[in-house]
Amino acid sequence: MIHFSQINKHYGQFHVLRDIDLHIKSGEVVVVIGPSGSGKSTLLRCINRLETVTDGELVVNDTKVNDKSTDINKLRRNIGMVFQHFNLYPHMTVLDNITLAPMKVNGMSNSEATEIAMHYLTKVGIPDKAKSFPSQLSGGQQQRVAIARGLAMKPQIMLFDEPTSALDPEMVGEVLDVMKSLAKEGMTMVCVTHEMGFAREVADRIVFMDQGQILEEGIPSEFFNNPQEERARQFLSRLN
Ligand code: ADP
Ligand code: MG
Repeated sequence: MIHFSQINKHYGQFHVLRDIDLHIKSGEVVVVIGPSGSGKSTLLRCINRLETVTDGELVVNDTKVNDKSTDINKLRRNIGMVFQHFNLYPHMTVLDNITLAPMKVNGMSNSEATEIAMHYLTKVGIPDKAKSFPSQLSGGQQQRVAIARGLAMKPQIMLFDEPTSALDPEMVGEVLDVMKSLAKEGMTMVCVTHEMGFAREVADRIVFMDQGQILEEGIPSEFFNNPQEERARQFLSRLN
């Protein structure tokens, strides 16, 4: 579903991604971890071309992401993204936040988009908040709206960039639970997170990045119990 082959990226002189090879199958849940500044967000943002790569080949769902002929909007319709800060439109209700893209981008009717929005709001556990404004919701509820908004486009891939990092601790669990259920349903997911419990329990594979490189990857039990790389060991020991 997602293929990074020898991907390099620079920000000006700064070499942020180095020879990335990463292949993610349909239905796989990959958790990307690593120190701040190691390139995790950049890696994620290349997938939907929020960032362009300098060289190498990146193929997402059989589309060459960086080809001139690639329809970027079509690519993005298929990829939902959830950020640390929820990026909801403050002046719009929860429902309108969710129905906006399906109506504008996919040309869906209001009634159809509303039905889908209510379906996903129910899925994330807050159908009663449809008429509320973002400012009337807790952080955890806002993030669940952001997830519902992503899902309403029926993407094949969901990207999560530290979706719980801005939340009060008591709200982290409700967002992770939604992500867990998505994973169980077979969504292809790439998640950057510091929630190691989630990574252990839900990930099919852990990817450890440091200084723009993938230093180590493996299934959670092996990675967490027996990391091979010294820098991975150091990173994990600092978390505890
Ligand atoms: P992470 O998500 O692992 O913290 P990022 O991908 O956000 O890492 O950033 C990796 C490095 O690239 C950091 O050193 C950061 O300062 C730098 N960087 C990120 N975005 C830009 C940008 N738009 N221009 C220049 N440097 C950037
Ligand atoms: Mg980041």
